[in-house]
Amino acid sequence: MCAPLTRLMAGTRVSNRGSVAITLPRASSWSAPQEGRQPGPIIRTPGSMSTPAASAGVQPRLCYNTPVDDAAWMRAALAEAERAFEHGDVPVGAVAVCRGTVIGRGHNRREADADPTAHAEMVALREAARVLGTWRLAEVTLYCTLEPCPMCAGALVLARLPRLVYGTDDPKMGAAGSVVELLREPRFNHRVSVTRGVLAAEAQALLERFFARLRTDGEK
Ligand SMILES: [Zn+2]
Repeated sequence: MCAPLTRLMAGTRVSNRGSVAITLPRASSWSAPQEGRQPGPIIRTPGSMSTPAASAGVQPRLCYNTPVDDAAWMRAALAEAERAFEHGDVPVGAVAVCRGTVIGRGHNRREADADPTAHAEMVALREAARVLGTWRLAEVTLYCTLEPCPMCAGALVLARLPRLVYGTDDPKMGAAGSVVELLREPRFNHRVSVTRGVLAAEAQALLERFFARLRTDGEK
């Protein structure tokens, strides 16, 4: 097991937006991850290191047996997108999830920070890398409300991200197939598995509400 995840297992506080103390499941509930599936949200309670297995010297493991729930993670990404809306940035949000825990969050801050690279995905990836202590995000799934642009898609490939889940397509800048396809380019040394269309209507409605408000404000 890699060192960063060992640190996660030790119950490290891994987010600056609230405790994500790791709960160790009962020994009988531990199971290996199911192939092609991603752990969903886990209800955690702190202070459970003294499981029978742990006290017997067995290396504790994280729980993988929660059901897949991409929509739940996407709702967290939508909440981030709302934050971008609040400060006048195009509402795009992202969360990075590792073994059932959010380890990175981001929302578009391009206007707020006057930074062309401050896209939601970049912000979330940077936080995830900081938490894990490595650029290689080999066990992270990124949930983003909008199809990534070429910059962000490139970052996902460079991070060796195994999986991306996104909401609505971006017909103008999308790099997961809408305009270009960078995530599954066979000549690259890494390809990202993509699930698209999760809560797409919600993500699209938020964008439409934002641009409608921009038009209204522009007419005043
Ligand atoms: Zn981007």
